[in-house]
Amino acid sequence: MTIKTIELSLDEIFSLAKTSLIKHGANEENADAVAHTVTNAERDGSISHGLFRIPGYIKALKSKKVDGSAKPTIKEVTPIIFRCDANNGFAPLAHKDSLKLVINAAQKFGMAGVAIQRCHHFAALWPEVEEISNNGLVGLTSVSYTPSVAPAGGTTALFGTNPMAFAWPRPGKNPIVFDMATASMAKGELQIAARDGHRVPLGTGLSPSGELTTDASEIDKGVLLPFGGHKGSVIALMIELLSGPLVGETFSYETKERDNGDGGPAQGGQFILAMSPKILSGKDTSKQTEQFLKKYNDIEGVRIPGSRRHKNRENNGPREVNTSLFNTIIELRDES
Ligand code: NDP
Repeated sequence: MTIKTIELSLDEIFSLAKTSLIKHGANEENADAVAHTVTNAERDGSISHGLFRIPGYIKALKSKKVDGSAKPTIKEVTPIIFRCDANNGFAPLAHKDSLKLVINAAQKFGMAGVAIQRCHHFAALWPEVEEISNNGLVGLTSVSYTPSVAPAGGTTALFGTNPMAFAWPRPGKNPIVFDMATASMAKGELQIAARDGHRVPLGTGLSPSGELTTDASEIDKGVLLPFGGHKGSVIALMIELLSGPLVGETFSYETKERDNGDGGPAQGGQFILAMSPKILSGKDTSKQTEQFLKKYNDIEGVRIPGSRRHKNRENNGPREVNTSLFNTIIELRDES
């Protein structure tokens, strides 16, 4: 099946995202922050967290589930622990405001974290951990969502696709970054495969009757499975705990119960931690790390996680955007 695409420059992507959000009630500050996140996702090739998300964001603005003018409030609970109430807003502004505090505190005290509450849609997780690492720190983050993944051995969805991301600083170089769903496939990727009629690997998920299938649309109606069998399942369980009770927020199933079902991103919590290798180790370990990474990279067939995104980022040219998605967003932006 041939998928029709249209070329858009990064500026056009930004402007399309921002004007569509403003049209539906987001203020300048929130629309700007979300449009940056969307544009960075398209730039880096993370299309399931780019313009693809705009129709859902607009649904959430229309239903007033998300407050497009929200201003996060942040409390310093201890010198290294912050609690950010996103006040029903989209995530990017909550990140922007709280990361500054977390980074400063971790640089001073060696470690710092933020519990983000009442927030809508972390999207892709790498931008936040990359920012932490661009400031000489190790970043770790996770978020849960609404149930779409069955724990290992089961056929009932309980976990979200529960991503986690990790970044390690490399002075003068791009950080090491991994950012991954603990589901065998991110939900957005599955929905794109279903939309485009692509098959997915066996083991990705189960049909509504609990059978293994390669049909993405059947899995979309059924359940996803965790990556790596029981090992991925226990990591997904950990993420439910870190992104729920640890930060004073909901498990995925509670997130769903609280949601109004408008199709936009549900409200939930997020966990972000920053650590200073310099302060924890008491020395500069960057030379030792680079020696290890040289050994890693010298193995044929191996690559550093994050390198695909960093390579994509070097290209400032236009990006291919699904034409039907583009038309949907234009209609939403121009609707009276
Ligand atoms: P991928 O499986 O595409 O990639 C996972 C990680 O593995 C990436 O960091 C990638 O780096 C790295 N990687 C891939 N191949 C290799 C390799 N051969 N060697 C070394 N590293 C490699 O990610 P997912 O599909 O699981 O997730 C996609 C996105 O969806 C993520 O950004 C995630 O945060 C987001 N997501 C968000 C959710 C939410 O609720 N907000 C829910 C689920 C997912 P590289 O980038 O360089 O390819």
